[in-house]
Amino acid sequence: MLEGQLRRNTRQKRVILRSVEQLGCHPTAVQIYNTVRKVLPRTSLSTVYRNLGILVDQGKIRAVKGAGSEIHYDHNTGAHNHIECTVCGRVCDVHMDPVDIDTMNPETVSNFIVMEVRMNILGICPECAEQLEKEKLQ
Ligand SMILES: [Zn+2]
Ligand SMILES: [Zn+2]
Repeated sequence: MLEGQLRRNTRQKRVILRSVEQLGCHPTAVQIYNTVRKVLPRTSLSTVYRNLGILVDQGKIRAVKGAGSEIHYDHNTGAHNHIECTVCGRVCDVHMDPVDIDTMNPETVSNFIVMEVRMNILGICPECAEQLEKEKLQ
């Protein structure tokens, strides 16, 4: 690979990682793409997808699958759960202790060996709740 190309790739990856951090509340690839394009206008969506995949593999970010088909990206790679808005699809963090696998009773989990706990909490975010409230008053 040419040195210039390599430098450009490194820069793209850095800007993509920074965008995930700046956008905070678990952005999708398209949201990250729109932010990256403000800094590096020639970046393609496929480049963003590819780099997000690399960053996930490197453990720098985490991919969070919502109820829909879209994947959200999280700069917080520590163990925590998520809540998803059923109206706008936004994903936010749940601030409570993760379920402790070691204290689980085997019968509760049909004698499975538990590898990972993924909780799916769905709700309505404050912005959507406010919007729904306004619509009700009209
Ligand atoms: Zn919402
Ligand atoms: Zn999160």
